[in-house]
Amino acid sequence: MTKFLSVVSELMSKDNVLVLGHVMPDGDDISSVACLAEGLRRLGKTARAGIDDQIAWYYKLFFAVDKIESFEQLQDFSPDLIVVVDCSSPDRVGRFQDLLKKAKLVVIDHHETNALFGDLNLVDVSSASTAQIVYNINKAMEVSYDPQLATTNLLGIMTDTGFFRYSNTDGNVLRTAAELVELGAQPYFVASTILENRTPEQFKLLEKMIEHMKVEDGLVYSWLSYEDYLSLGCTEDDSSGFVSELRSMKDIEVAILFTEFPEGEVHVSFRSKHWLNVSKIAAALGGGGHARAAGCSYKNVELNKVIDEVLRLTREALAGGRHETD
Ligand code: 5GP
Ligand code: MN
Repeated sequence: MTKFLSVVSELMSKDNVLVLGHVMPDGDDISSVACLAEGLRRLGKTARAGIDDQIAWYYKLFFAVDKIESFEQLQDFSPDLIVVVDCSSPDRVGRFQDLLKKAKLVVIDHHETNALFGDLNLVDVSSASTAQIVYNINKAMEVSYDPQLATTNLLGIMTDTGFFRYSNTDGNVLRTAAELVELGAQPYFVASTILENRTPEQFKLLEKMIEHMKVEDGLVYSWLSYEDYLSLGCTEDDSSGFVSELRSMKDIEVAILFTEFPEGEVHVSFRSKHWLNVSKIAAALGGGGHARAAGCSYKNVELNKVIDEVLRLTREALAGGRHETD
């Protein structure tokens, strides 16, 4: 039996399922968690969903996202199966990590840096989004789709492909998106909700990022300190998507954004354009991701020290050249 069919039969055979996503959840993660849990509920199972972090307000405008619960809310649940989606390592589930040993664990993901930490690992690195894998699983389980569920499923595909612009946009992406649109999904709702909801404070934060921006051979980087967020009444969610603005610069290969939120906690977002495999740099620093989009996080650090370390590794990788890094 293929991995895919093993996962489908595992899901079909269990009645109490917990679906978990990762900290700092993005659109693909939220979509995958919400759609898999909803699919199982539509089959009559008890399926609950959890993410141990804040979910940005605009994601809550999508169907089934309000059913994702916090770590505290899920304390009363004893699942007989746990499914972790879009998560490359067990620490990414936050405080749910200790729970992972207490039931059979299925991992569904598309990150090449996945640590294969489940009893069953369905990791398809050729899939642009985890949401596509979830759609295929729901389809195999004969889950009924309506326009609302289809739109939430499309959310993950659209956000992880940069709205069909990134190099991972292939025939499967467009075919699955087309199927979802035929089921009633609304691409316009996804695009306008995610891309056209920036507050004036976010624009001021963007201004700060541009003010701090530095450009050197093949590389553009910038940073936002906790003080920057605080002074504008912003949180880390408010800089979501900013690193893509950096990558849009002409003639650069790699863009890096350093964000400190809260004080002493730094997240590094890497994006590359054509050839540099940034997941290798992120993995060397304890993080992970994809060849063109990766990240890592630090606790109890000084922003400047992180910037120095990351720049050193990135400059080395860039100088190593195309043949060695990808
Ligand atoms: P972003 O820069 O948008 O936070 O993340 C880009 C990609 O890298 C995403 O696929 C995300 O899952 C992954 N990523 C970001 N931060 C981390 C991290 O700290 N650890 C791991 N394993 N992956 C990360
Ligand atoms: Mn993803």
